[in-house]
Amino acid sequence: MAQVRLRFHGVLNDFITPALRGADIVHVFERKASVKDMIESFHVPHTEVEWMFAQGVAIDFEHIVVDQEIIDVYPATNGINFPVSVQLRPALALPLTFIVDSNLGRLARYLRLLGFDCLYSNHFDDSEVAEIARNQRRIVLTRDRALLQRKIITHGYYLRSDAPKLQTIEVLRRYDLFPSIKPFVRCTHCNGILREVAKQSIEHRLEPLTKAYFDTFLMCETCHRIYWEGSHCTRMEHLVETFRANKLENGK
Ligand SMILES: [Zn+2]
Repeated sequence: MAQVRLRFHGVLNDFITPALRGADIVHVFERKASVKDMIESFHVPHTEVEWMFAQGVAIDFEHIVVDQEIIDVYPATNGINFPVSVQLRPALALPLTFIVDSNLGRLARYLRLLGFDCLYSNHFDDSEVAEIARNQRRIVLTRDRALLQRKIITHGYYLRSDAPKLQTIEVLRRYDLFPSIKPFVRCTHCNGILREVAKQSIEHRLEPLTKAYFDTFLMCETCHRIYWEGSHCTRMEHLVETFRANKLENGK
């Protein structure tokens, strides 16, 4: 029998049984285990972890836990950086891109509205989401902890809320995306890029009133959907402002 003392810090406690939150957890184990497997046995997905230390020395996910170790596990927290040389995962390519799993279609549409590249299909199964995330270096956004525990997913975020607007704000805060919001550059339906299009080239597709009152149009280069300023856009602009207004937590 061996035992380890585990300390989960900050928002990682969201995942842990309430009785163990904030506590030094004494965990008894018999079989050799990597620290990744051990922390995930407490339902904390490895993607939520940014730094880990054994007796104060930085470790990675492959670290094999030994008897009497003291392991500290930290989440990513904006503004906090430990000066360590151990990288838990490869750096993400910029600009950040995302993939959401099934049932999160509205989150995908909101992120696209704000200009972020976000893949979504309700046909993707978990394996496909994981493969695409790895191959295209996308961040996985999900409510499914088991998906985030897959080893091939290196970057992911577990959405705390089940409300799409709150989820969007969570993602904006987690990845510090507020300065990068760029509305109306991406099709909310298919994630394609929007380009300005000459009115005469699409006139035949417009309703008479739209044709009479509007002159500036955008078209999705992938699905060819047409966007123009009007009540639809005003509603979307209002939504964008609502998201921007949530930059700081607790209204600070
Ligand atoms: Zn489109």
